Amino acid sequence: MRSIEINQESLVADLSAMIRCASVNTFGVATDIGAEAAMADLYENMLRDLGLEIGSCEVTAGRRNVWGVLKGSGEGPTILLAGHMDTVGIDGYENPFEPIVKDGRIYGRGSCDMKAGLAAYLEVVRYLQRSGTTLSGDLIIAGVIDEEHAMAGSRDFGINGPKVDCAIVAEPSLLQISAAHKGQVLVTMKTKGLAAHSSMPDKGRNAVYHMAAVVGRLQEYANDLAVHDADPVCGKPSFNVGAIRGGDNACSVPDYCEIDIDRRTIPGESTAQVMQELEVVLEQVKEAVPDLICEIGEPYLDLPPLDTKMDDPVAMAMVEACTNVLGQVSVSAFPGSTDAPNFGCPAIICGPGDLAQCHSLNEYVAIDQIENAVRIYVHAIQSMQTDQ
Ligand SMILES: [Zn+2]
Repeated sequence: MRSIEINQESLVADLSAMIRCASVNTFGVATDIGAEAAMADLYENMLRDLGLEIGSCEVTAGRRNVWGVLKGSGEGPTILLAGHMDTVGIDGYENPFEPIVKDGRIYGRGSCDMKAGLAAYLEVVRYLQRSGTTLSGDLIIAGVIDEEHAMAGSRDFGINGPKVDCAIVAEPSLLQISAAHKGQVLVTMKTKGLAAHSSMPDKGRNAVYHMAAVVGRLQEYANDLAVHDADPVCGKPSFNVGAIRGGDNACSVPDYCEIDIDRRTIPGESTAQVMQELEVVLEQVKEAVPDLICEIGEPYLDLPPLDTKMDDPVAMAMVEACTNVLGQVSVSAFPGSTDAPNFGCPAIICGPGDLAQCHSLNEYVAIDQIENAVRIYVHAIQSMQTDQ
């Protein structure tokens, strides 16, 4: 394959425009939906300017996913290049939305996580058009909302978006490949007691004591998971009780207590199975505390593990592409959870930038890494889709 020339000028201009377009996630606060909406407008216009067929779907009021389709000529696979348009917050960040290009890097909030990926996708399209490449299947470029909070955008895309056969997600990975990561289930559990004056505790039922019994058993459950069989790529599942709230004051028997828990799942574990395990924990506590009333809420975050096999065509194409472009390839589990499993197809994470920088107050991405990302994506797409 001939070497892939990148137009650095348009790449830097696109990424700079996206950094200027603040798109901080509102993290469930419904007061300001404008930021992600402006970024959706911007990215949609960029996709339209490339001549792509535009699609869009409102996910929650005023917040929408956008995508563009580069039509293929035949029956080849439909490939999705997807990225999130939102960023984390900016508390303490000086000039977060002023892109600075310096020493081969671009600085600014969202530069690395993950507007660099969104900019790389546009260069992929430009290269394919410039080189006259005919694709046998459709190529879809998508910007989704809300990855940093509840991943509502990718979940919606997996259900209401165009059907795709595989996905590449440019989360910052220093161009290393991840085909797997853990899932995440966040749940609130709540004990119900009976309020009474603290001078007559026998008249009440203490929800904090009851929760203490539940938490004690949950700690044993966490210990059991720590010696669970490990997934060869993702390692062991884990469990954490991260917050506890209960009661009002020292002089009342508390009538409620609640905890927030975080269960990380490995490939092969389902959310239904996790909920069942929690029910079993409660049954065990009830043997010692017969009047226990404890409710397990519906998960308020429910992300499946990513488990793409390395012999899947998209995994093989990306390994070959990285080897070709970088002269080497590194494969490991992705440390966090991402949108990737929500697209409902085999997916590979590989993107420019370092996860270590991405939520920092000095976020940046190396331009040559974005250029290599473009080369890797072009290479992988061509090997999966080119007619000749
Ligand atoms: Zn990200």
